[in-house]
Amino acid sequence: MESIWTQAVDVIRSRVSEEIFETYFAPLRFLSGDETQIKIAAVDPFFCYWVQEHYNDLLLNAVTQAAGRPLEVILDTEAIEPEALLTRASLSEGGDEDIKDELLGSSFTLNPHYTFENFVLGPNNEMAHAMSAAVAREPAEAFNPLFIYGGTGLGKTHLLHAIAHRILAANPEARIVYISAEEFMNQMIRVLTQKSARGMEHFRARYRESCDVLLMDDIHILEGKDRSQEEFFHTFNALHSAQKQIVLTSDRTPKEFQDLSDRLRSRFTWGMLTDIKPPLFETRVAILQRKAIQEDARMPMEVLHYIARTVSANVRELEGALTRLLAFASIRKRPVTVEFAASVLGEVVDEARVVRDITAIQQMVAEHFNVQVSDLCGARRMKAIAHPRALAMYLCRTHTRSSFPQIGRDFGGRDHSTVMAAVRRIAQELEKDEALKAELTKLERKLP
Ligand code: ADP
Ligand code: MG
Repeated sequence: MESIWTQAVDVIRSRVSEEIFETYFAPLRFLSGDETQIKIAAVDPFFCYWVQEHYNDLLLNAVTQAAGRPLEVILDTEAIEPEALLTRASLSEGGDEDIKDELLGSSFTLNPHYTFENFVLGPNNEMAHAMSAAVAREPAEAFNPLFIYGGTGLGKTHLLHAIAHRILAANPEARIVYISAEEFMNQMIRVLTQKSARGMEHFRARYRESCDVLLMDDIHILEGKDRSQEEFFHTFNALHSAQKQIVLTSDRTPKEFQDLSDRLRSRFTWGMLTDIKPPLFETRVAILQRKAIQEDARMPMEVLHYIARTVSANVRELEGALTRLLAFASIRKRPVTVEFAASVLGEVVDEARVVRDITAIQQMVAEHFNVQVSDLCGARRMKAIAHPRALAMYLCRTHTRSSFPQIGRDFGGRDHSTVMAAVRRIAQELEKDEALKAELTKLERKLP
């Protein structure tokens, strides 16, 4: 097994620059291997993390090529201790100069419109709203953490800002941190690459000590990011045990996370879990009404109904349609009628049609493989689901006019790069895999 690793290293060496090789791959050490996997350890835990984040595919391909069969590569990050990173940092030269706050990007701005007052209630979001209001009224006393999950554009960020606004209104001194999990991760990486011990202290103090309320958006991004999970785990513990409020949002439930440490998963469910669903027709109309008032625009009810009927996926698209309509109406100096709306929103209507196409393809593929549409849009990665999912994405890309981001959104809010990777992989496999080609032809015949 060790010789497979040695060969894989040669493959990698031929594919990356000398510098990258020396920095990231030379320090990797073979640990063990069997029929299905090969275990690698890194001398330096931070680089190990970095390799996993950035060179996972390269690593997999090299090992597969060397072994002549697919092998799972496990990078041993167990040994990662924050302290190890600190030691490493303090050993580096000049590690003690002051860490500027810009390094962390300290400030965040709250959207003034994202208040509880501007949040339109419906059966789809009442619970999430009530829980958020409770938390804003009594931080750290009602539920801790509060975990809000739901699809994109449904108001999660709006609620987080609303909580911040309300707490600040009652107590302008409250130390609130609003941050997306992605930014949290980026800051951490920036601090780590600065190789300054003070940087890490500073980072930790910011989130663990100088914070009364932590509002962290889109934590699903931490999936599979072991090092960031580790850091967040400690942040969570420090805040929770100091009775500071934590509110988290995500596009899925803690249960649906794939690569999430169990201890973090269990903490996510310590407090209250609540979801937001897409708004029903009546709620969509109410949202449009409020938005029209906000824009100081008069809109006939039938036009609002028309938009609400045509655009249904989420609130963000709903608002976008209204904004576009108002812009056209003011440029063309035309009264807003249903006919005018239909002509302006032609594109949006088309998008809605594309959404239907994607849905239809998802249903067809799900039926063909005997899985659920929710599986295709969900997070599970077992082959029996991941394969149909990739095929469905491929079909959507080749048989609808949808963009990668659009497909990503409709497959459970995935990132466009995930869709691109899946589509590319299928395209590559199709070149050599006859069985897959036949399977695809069969599916294409069934296309709606
Ligand atoms: P998410 O974070 O879930 O992707 P956002 O909070 O960014 O969604 O919401 C998208 C847009 O829709 C924002 O402009 C937000 O103000 C608006 N919005 C969402 N839900 C509501 C609601 N119930 N009432 C009014 N506006 C809403
Ligand atoms: Mg958001």
